[in-house]
Amino acid sequence: MIDYHCHLDLYRNPMDVFSEARHRNTEVLAVTTSPRAYLKAKQHFVGAPSVHIALGFHPELVSSRVQEQALFFDTVRECKFIGEVGLDASGKNKDSLDIQKRFFVEALYTAESNGGRIISIHSRASTKETLDCIEQFVALSTPVLHWFTGSIKEAERAWKLGCWFSINPRMLSTKSGNAIIKSIPLSRVLPETDAPFVEKNGVPYMPWDTTVVNQLATMYGISVKDMEKTMLYNLQSLHRKHLI
Ligand code: MN
Repeated sequence: MIDYHCHLDLYRNPMDVFSEARHRNTEVLAVTTSPRAYLKAKQHFVGAPSVHIALGFHPELVSSRVQEQALFFDTVRECKFIGEVGLDASGKNKDSLDIQKRFFVEALYTAESNGGRIISIHSRASTKETLDCIEQFVALSTPVLHWFTGSIKEAERAWKLGCWFSINPRMLSTKSGNAIIKSIPLSRVLPETDAPFVEKNGVPYMPWDTTVVNQLATMYGISVKDMEKTMLYNLQSLHRKHLI
């Protein structure tokens, strides 16, 4: 199984979830919300080749933790994955959009100057602005748009820019989410949970959850096994581009 956007360090029992993911050989992109959280996750989540830890700075935190920005840029060199970073113009986050943008552009730029990274990107209420930044500043990196909520037209703009999409169960529960997913090339899709923030009946999804793969299999009229293989093939081709 694959979970390409999971807040492993924010579960109530992170080490138990980590051990289980390691035991199951689940491919996890463990995103973090600050550079300090990344360093801590790096210390704790060791010895599992299938668990990849991403250096992040959540757009909701960027403006209140300006002093941590230097640590982020210093750490890009040693990390293989970046996320979660991006823009958020929902509610009062709108007030800090300029600060968010400045940081996001600098993060994209730093990734480029280090040869490119796989970057898990948040774009709530700011699809256009996020894609504008990607269009202007990304050449070597591969953006993976997490929980994409833009229009079908914007989805098309995104994949033409080289973006990938990580899909969570919540997206598959809406009509618009399904329409968007159908419009994206399957070769650019990976499953995610965004857990522990996405829950089912009050219980966070686990990284090895099969909901997304099951629903994608139904959507494309193929077996769950074949869809699992397709997702694994996608992951391997993405990693081959950046990690070898
Ligand atoms: Mn997230």
